[in-house]
Amino acid sequence: MNKTNKASKVKTPKILKEDKFSPFAIEIVKKLKQSGFQGYLVGGCVRDSLVGIKAKDFDVSTDATPEEVRKLFRSSRIIGKRFRLVHVFSRNELIEVSTFRSNASKQSNISEVIKDSEGKILRDNVWGTLEEDCVRRDFSINALYFDPIENDLRDFHNGLNHIQKKILVSIGDPLVRFEEDPVRSLRAIRFSSKLNFKISNAVKEAIYQKGYLLGNISNARMFDEFCKIFLTKNALNNFNKLESFGVLKYLINSNDYAEDTFGLRFQHAALINTDNRLKASKSITPGFLIAALLWPRLVEASKEKGVLNLRKFFRSMDRIIREQQTLTAVPRKFHGYIKDIWSLQLKLETRLGHQPYKILNHPRFRAAYDFLLLREEAANDTQGIGEWWTQFQRINRPGKIELLKSLRESRNGPVEKKFGFLEELS
Ligand code: ATP
Ligand code: MG
Repeated sequence: MNKTNKASKVKTPKILKEDKFSPFAIEIVKKLKQSGFQGYLVGGCVRDSLVGIKAKDFDVSTDATPEEVRKLFRSSRIIGKRFRLVHVFSRNELIEVSTFRSNASKQSNISEVIKDSEGKILRDNVWGTLEEDCVRRDFSINALYFDPIENDLRDFHNGLNHIQKKILVSIGDPLVRFEEDPVRSLRAIRFSSKLNFKISNAVKEAIYQKGYLLGNISNARMFDEFCKIFLTKNALNNFNKLESFGVLKYLINSNDYAEDTFGLRFQHAALINTDNRLKASKSITPGFLIAALLWPRLVEASKEKGVLNLRKFFRSMDRIIREQQTLTAVPRKFHGYIKDIWSLQLKLETRLGHQPYKILNHPRFRAAYDFLLLREEAANDTQGIGEWWTQFQRINRPGKIELLKSLRESRNGPVEKKFGFLEELS
């Protein structure tokens, strides 16, 4: 039954044990094999297990067609048009089962592989063999196939060796492969940070040369990639690498800020904060990070003669979100959230009359307060407003009254016009 080229068979490293994989994914492989098909765990789960990272999602590859897979598993669904595959469900897990495909770049005359005028693959549904399936994967380390039943590891592209050498190598000419799918350049950067691998020179060159093609990718796909890049504990590292490869601008509609400016220090502080929260298993949302990455731009757009112009501030909010939206789709639910965080920065600063009581009960207070602390961390000059709010939250009712009273007394002149934003506005 197994028509696979024996040359690809390599000695399975001891680290690759069954217990590294989801029992449900192994069940799926078993059932495929019992039904006369081939079945392998593939991609990220094999790679991560070999590197010593706990794999989080499990992909299965098979010679069964999506219809055949669908028939074998009761809880399953065929999804995708550009790339048809089957989702197989258990109560709490979802495994992607994809059918071996042949290398699209060699078959551009076949109607099931459709490319646009710049070489981008629009549809990729030509079934193939295991050998052929390997060739269309992006990097050698992502093209390892493991059959946990026979303890059989398949490696056609020297992936195991590249894992040992900690290097990211493209399968085929990266200039062509990144034309077929420009997102591969973002994936290269992401894997190099996640695994702490070097990027081969050919791949580096392809990112420089073909990075501009990221401008053609749908904003929905770019948002998915944005989340994988910035919400998986390597945000700061990825941000710096993206910037040095000149492709950050396809993900964030931000200006370039020089070293040691408020803009860059604040973006860095927000990225580090995201990484730290994830490492401490605290909640994060893409909304907060987007609000932070775009904040320096909002402040700039609202500046007039060195002070904040409120009309400009509120007008620019929608425009800046809209402009970001052309790069990465930002789900609707985050638009209000982002604008709330931004406008609360003004209220946290003015603390007029009885407003502070209301602000404490605002559903976005916590996020806006965290945001304020990050602004202060990045500014060389703080006004102690974050500290004031820390106290105001903690203290009892009489204490709160006292705090507000001394705040009133400490102010001279019309407070309505006073927005600190010291370094941000300088
Ligand atoms: P992670 O899940 O950590 O992001 P992964 O390698 O599992 O990493 P997935 O996006 O889950 O990435 O894809 C699974 C596999 O499918 C990859 O390992 C790779 O072999 C293949 N693959 C995914 N996206 C592409 C792509 N854009 N071009 C070529 N192959 C791809
Ligand atoms: Mg994966």
